[in-house]
Amino acid sequence: MNAQQAVKPQPQLLRTREELREYLDRTSAGTRGLVMTMGALHEGHLDLVRAIRPPANILVTIFVNPTQFAPGEDLEAYPRDLEADLALLSTVGVDAVFAPTPEVAYPLGEALVSIDPGPMARVFEGATRPTHFAGVCLIVAKVFNLVRPDIAAFGRKDAQQLAIIERMVADLDLPIEILPVDIRREVDGLAMSSRNAYLSPQEREAALVLSRTLFQAKNIAEGGADAHAVLDFARSALESAPGIRLDYVDIVDASTYTPVALGFTGQAIMPLAAWVGKTRLIDNTQLTF
Ligand code: AMP
Repeated sequence: MNAQQAVKPQPQLLRTREELREYLDRTSAGTRGLVMTMGALHEGHLDLVRAIRPPANILVTIFVNPTQFAPGEDLEAYPRDLEADLALLSTVGVDAVFAPTPEVAYPLGEALVSIDPGPMARVFEGATRPTHFAGVCLIVAKVFNLVRPDIAAFGRKDAQQLAIIERMVADLDLPIEILPVDIRREVDGLAMSSRNAYLSPQEREAALVLSRTLFQAKNIAEGGADAHAVLDFARSALESAPGIRLDYVDIVDASTYTPVALGFTGQAIMPLAAWVGKTRLIDNTQLTF
């Protein structure tokens, strides 16, 4: 730990709605920044905090939200280490951490009202995980209402989630600035993810083909290839890669998540998902045509 890290105080831990309200009342002057996470924090999460610059008061939520997991997914296995998370957050100047239990987050039990995020939530991640984005939108809307942030940072790592949240904020006229933050990667290219902890050394090695393919696709696009040629390259690279099973790869319009048409020009995203053993990883890159 360097000297600059050492002087930052430990964030205040808020467990209940009352503690959250008391903290919000006490810090109501000034800009409020929000970073929502499921914990098991890494440098990618810290980049979201860093992207919201002081003088904002920064509140981080740590909550493994059950409503965005389907039965059979990794809700129980998801890594949890609140002490380590608080220690990490103390290095970047976070004022408070709201870490509710499911009972605190959903005091009436299962929510009866839901948010349907529309067509963008039914493709790609939403095709494989049909209830996922409705669960994400529910918790994001609840936390936005509880915290009333001026600005909330979300990672491009979950590019489809980011696009859906940006659209929800626009469609519902929520008075919140959404700040997109670039993907933080390990030195060898693997996108940082709490789920990387599930990977064996061999699986981690096999997983490198995901970022490698995205970087190559970006180079090919920058060299002037059209979207279909870039997609053909990526699909065959991923389908023939050992140790992974491709779920999807495509090239989509960055704001609508619809696949781009032949001859597309403009900003696009290449999202992908693949199984590496029992672990499902996602990654993406921005492409310009
Ligand atoms: P999670 O805890 O995985 O739900 O992620 C919480 C937030 O951190 C989301 O906005 C993610 O997009 C963001 N995030 C997770 N991993 C990364 C990463 N490697 N780079 C940038 N942002 C990330």
